[in-house]
Amino acid sequence: MNIDEIIALDKADPLAKKRLEFDLPVDTLYLDGNSLGALPKSVKSRVAEVVSQQWGNDLIKSWNKHNWIDLPIKVGEKIAPLIGAAKGQVICCDSISVNLFKLLCSALTLSSDRSVVLSTKDNFPTDLYMVQGLSDLLGPDLCQLQLVEEQLIQQSMTESVAVLLLTQVNFRTGKLLDMAKLTQLAHDKGILVIWDLAHSAGALPVELDKCQVDFAVGCGYKYLNAGPGSPAFLYVAKHHQTAVKQPLSGWMGHANPFAFEPEYQAADSINQFQCGTPSVLAMSALDAALDVWQDVNMQQIRNKSIALADLFLGLIHMHECLHDLILCSPNTAKQRGSQLAFSHNDAFAICQALIEKGVIADFRAPNILRFGFTPLYTSFEDVWQAVTTLASIVETELYKADRFNISLKVT
Ligand SMILES: *Cc1c(COP(=O)(O)O)cnc(C)c1O
Repeated sequence: MNIDEIIALDKADPLAKKRLEFDLPVDTLYLDGNSLGALPKSVKSRVAEVVSQQWGNDLIKSWNKHNWIDLPIKVGEKIAPLIGAAKGQVICCDSISVNLFKLLCSALTLSSDRSVVLSTKDNFPTDLYMVQGLSDLLGPDLCQLQLVEEQLIQQSMTESVAVLLLTQVNFRTGKLLDMAKLTQLAHDKGILVIWDLAHSAGALPVELDKCQVDFAVGCGYKYLNAGPGSPAFLYVAKHHQTAVKQPLSGWMGHANPFAFEPEYQAADSINQFQCGTPSVLAMSALDAALDVWQDVNMQQIRNKSIALADLFLGLIHMHECLHDLILCSPNTAKQRGSQLAFSHNDAFAICQALIEKGVIADFRAPNILRFGFTPLYTSFEDVWQAVTTLASIVETELYKADRFNISLKVT
């Protein structure tokens, strides 16, 4: 591969023009959109408008005039096609952690004769922490966490398991689980399934309805590009919506919040999964960020994501000095999400040196260097540049300098 061939790849890329819809800093090469998506230009103007016009000028009238009250459902419906969900099943609210609490309780009440929540040891910690907290609250007769290695999921699906809680794309390794197969196997054993889509929504095609998934959660600030602390979303399959009950029974989930009745009565739709007042500024940002997806299909995203990662791997192999980077992601693209992870003893320092050189990747303890590929705004030339920079940092041992070996609060 030479640079001319790489420039030709960008020329032939049907998604190349999407990059213009983002406000990317010059001299920065961003391979961390899997942690915090880049800023869409549409978000900048929308947030300015919501602050100065809607809030500043129209004040409280905006709840009706600008439909603030319907933002959670409106934004949910915009996310739905990206994750293969028909109408009325997705709502935008709270964080993944809080939404998991609601869905775990819902699922456990639906299968009240069972108490085990089965998950994987290397699941994202907040998912596991939320089960642990719920288990402390309810006691082990109603909720207990069982953790297994990924390859033992199938054989651990027993009659005592109420809920299978899985993240589709592993946050460290990028390994992609087979949603259709695992959901089917769980259902065969009478187990309900909650999928965490933090690293899949906006990264690859997801088919929640087709896979007959019961519940799902996902993130607004990663591949959906809605900014730090952006609200999350949740999915509840239509056929569960009349039977479920979630315990965070705030007024926004009430059938009629503005009747101000003393008795809680849940809405009979996906609205029942809201709790308190929506974060209007942040949700408006997500609403605007989702416009970027209007003329994109997820298969295009997937094809480019695979091509970017395969190019990255190919270029790594061409550099002798990079052979100490051990790939922790699956070798085959079909088994990966939209990121690559490598282990290296000096992963932290290498990551810091990359950042100083303008290539933003991230580090995950204990020794993992992660590169995220976001087909909307990552170019093939970015990949070439990133690997060239990485090779020079490793070859010259620049990363050994003291300034790259100071620990940080957020990594
Ligand atoms: C990023 C991420 C989260 C984040 O949860 P929040 O409560 O929204 O902060 C949860 N789960 C997974 C798998 C993640 O990657």
